[in-house]
Amino acid sequence: MGKIYIIDVTNRDGVQTAKLGLSKLEKTMINIYLNDMGVFHSEFGFPTTKHEKFYLEANEELADLGVLKPIHLGGWIRATAADVEMAFRLVPKLKHLNLSISTSDQMIQGKFQGRKTRDDILQTMVDAVEAARSYGAKTIGVNAEDASRTDLDFLVEFASEAKAHGADRFRYCDTLGYDNPFTIYETVNRLAKDVGIAIELHCHHDLGMAVANSIAGAKGAIDGGQDAYINTTVNGIGERAGNADLVATILAVLKSKGFAEKYQLGKPIDLSKAWKIARFASYAFRVPIPINQPGVGDNAFAHASGIHADGVLKDPQNYELYSYTELGRGEPEFVETGREICAGEYGGISGFRHIMGKMEVSFADSSEADKILELVRYANVLAQRPLVEDELLFIAKYPDITKKLLTLRPLDMPEVGA
Ligand SMILES: [Zn+2]
Repeated sequence: MGKIYIIDVTNRDGVQTAKLGLSKLEKTMINIYLNDMGVFHSEFGFPTTKHEKFYLEANEELADLGVLKPIHLGGWIRATAADVEMAFRLVPKLKHLNLSISTSDQMIQGKFQGRKTRDDILQTMVDAVEAARSYGAKTIGVNAEDASRTDLDFLVEFASEAKAHGADRFRYCDTLGYDNPFTIYETVNRLAKDVGIAIELHCHHDLGMAVANSIAGAKGAIDGGQDAYINTTVNGIGERAGNADLVATILAVLKSKGFAEKYQLGKPIDLSKAWKIARFASYAFRVPIPINQPGVGDNAFAHASGIHADGVLKDPQNYELYSYTELGRGEPEFVETGREICAGEYGGISGFRHIMGKMEVSFADSSEADKILELVRYANVLAQRPLVEDELLFIAKYPDITKKLLTLRPLDMPEVGA
């Protein structure tokens, strides 16, 4: 019986969203929180984008140190041999990759404007998979962009070719959020049966069905004898109307009517970390969590009307499907209401020592304190908001890795083929 695994794409789909972004330290914190939660894989960035190089390498170092373990860190690139070569040149330690190419006639005609045929798409993808294998990629996912608008026979052929050349997973991208739970079930079920490859569900929320489609697709893959890998983002942040929300997807798998009796997570998820990661992502993206967000919204456990309040007080299960404590809510939070000393890009040693002292962090000597303060200043230049405690603790614990994360200088590396 196949299982369900979570591949979070906040650090790829989330950060490529219009008007939104994360600093490299923020992306690193997201990877750490995802790992703490038990998420299988974080699509951690773009290894052909030069300004990602130091961040991606620093995170691979954190993996080597056991800080980002056991989570898989996977890069996302276009499915071309040239991009694979560029990715491994910029980030030699890269282990996991997803290779993406459009497969629908709409995209082939609308994007490539007659320069590519279906056969060209197949060949380009096959060349990319073989290149990734030759560079020693440990796992390869092949993404069919706009899969939901792709001719199904061609999609089966595409996924079969990917598998034949060594792909480990096939990513079914409902790029425009066009599917519904019924159509995605049928399509993914046929792919699983006919191709025999593990399937990733990458669902968008343009019709408000990203989570529903994700679990229907997962059911299709498992009923077809394969594992299912659901792509999520924290707070559903992603292109346009967003992606399947991480917390809502896990809740849907675990709590929806009868689902978990047959369709189970392959790796346990610690839902008690949900509150923390959702709040951090909201703060870092500067996007408030909607009041009615499942699990982590302000109103997710709020009751006012007489009948509901009376009912929930008598027995929470009258009006709550799951408990707030399961999601890491209900702990008192310290909010400063008086004088506040914040870390900032122009901060000095006295304020800094005060902040770190409150977290019971002390330094061996003043030169160590100065060094960490300098890194905190740089982190603030990039974040343009006060750092949270976990970020300050990270910087104090891993100063050398932080230095790498904060390194942003234009790289003098020629493009492949240039
Ligand atoms: Zn997407």
